Amino acid sequence: MRYDQLLVRYGELTLKSGNRNTFINQLKGNVKHALIPLTGYEVHANRDRMYIHLDEQIDVEEVIRRVSKVFGVHSVSPVMRVDKELETVKEAAIKVAADIDEEGKTFKIDVKRSDKSYPMETFELQQVLGGAVLSQAEHLTVNVKQPDYKLQVEIRRDAAYLYSRVIKGAGGLPVGTGGKTLLMLSGGIDSPVAGIEVMRRGVTIEAIHFHSPPFTSDEAKQKVIDLTHIMAETAGEIKLHLVPFTEIQKTIHKVVPENMTMTSTRRLMLRIAEQLAERIGAQAIVNGENLGQVASQTLGSMHAINAVTSMPILRPLLTLDKDDIILKAKEIGTFETSIKPFEDCCTIFTPKNPKTNPKLEKVEKFESKFNFDALIEEVIEHTEVMTISKVRETADFSDLL
Ligand code: ATP
Ligand code: MG
Repeated sequence: MRYDQLLVRYGELTLKSGNRNTFINQLKGNVKHALIPLTGYEVHANRDRMYIHLDEQIDVEEVIRRVSKVFGVHSVSPVMRVDKELETVKEAAIKVAADIDEEGKTFKIDVKRSDKSYPMETFELQQVLGGAVLSQAEHLTVNVKQPDYKLQVEIRRDAAYLYSRVIKGAGGLPVGTGGKTLLMLSGGIDSPVAGIEVMRRGVTIEAIHFHSPPFTSDEAKQKVIDLTHIMAETAGEIKLHLVPFTEIQKTIHKVVPENMTMTSTRRLMLRIAEQLAERIGAQAIVNGENLGQVASQTLGSMHAINAVTSMPILRPLLTLDKDDIILKAKEIGTFETSIKPFEDCCTIFTPKNPKTNPKLEKVEKFESKFNFDALIEEVIEHTEVMTISKVRETADFSDLL
């Protein structure tokens, strides 16, 4: 069984008529990126659909797997293109039906005949092809009203196109069409999922990670790099900003009472994130916070922490249950890396009894005993920036895009 092309249907693109071309071009680029390093295909995008022509030797299932994960793709179907001669179309219909490898399913033949000069009428063709499939495919029966599978046959000017499988795509909007955000990326389970969730809505991310060597290890840093590699599978390259946070944490522990250090730590992270966001032209900050999950994520804590910035903070996981976040982390492939046991800067400096309802005025009063502005500036100067691409990349493919 050989398919010649993949039909890719757009998701919500249809809603955005003004920006349609931008969206389609971005999606085309993202699809090509997802297919690196495969060869033997050609992508053609028009206003309504995208077609990926496939060479004989390419692994079609692998192409389907990759393309269906790209945000902005509603669904994909592997399509067979054959000569319009009736016997050939019959044979192709039988082959496509044979590809439905489940017992006891129902089908119907759905013919679209845009080539009006074709010698057979739509209804007649449906009858003939249905009969041909039934005579060969013992595992199928016909159900015209509610079939499990529609065997689509399009008779166009140049050829006949047949398909039956419709594989659901990732949905959402193409990454790169919705502006830029800065993701606060820890080594935990939640923040990579939060990053992917905003990318699903078309938003590009850069990531910021705070580490505190020598209290945090090289393995902890590597874990964050690995997570960024995985996120880059969907997004193209991601810039990762690694902020040396040791001095700030030490200072916090000098000037702020222990039960408020957690609040101040988060506030300082956010102040640095805001400044970096402004420098890189990001319009919002994303984090993996989840209401009530830990002391720093109660409403009271969020209120005291959030007060340092007026920049929008996106919290895509705010109301999800942990089980659901874990499921998502497994789906996107970050879970196994996230659960590696390397401590991050927050775990190491965690106070025994962090305040769950810190008073903003008090935190502000303690923090004002030290001029953090200068330290923040210094820390940003010493931030290491890495450009991280997807794991499988083996060479420079930029000329393909
Ligand atoms: P995660 O699983 O993402 O680490 P968490 O449930 O462990 O989340 P916290 O550790 O309280 O929650 O962190 C809340 C959010 O703050 C994280 O989701 C992340 O966005 C941000 N954050 C925490 N630690 C760091 C860090 N070292 N660097 C960058 N961002 C961080
Ligand atoms: Mg964490």
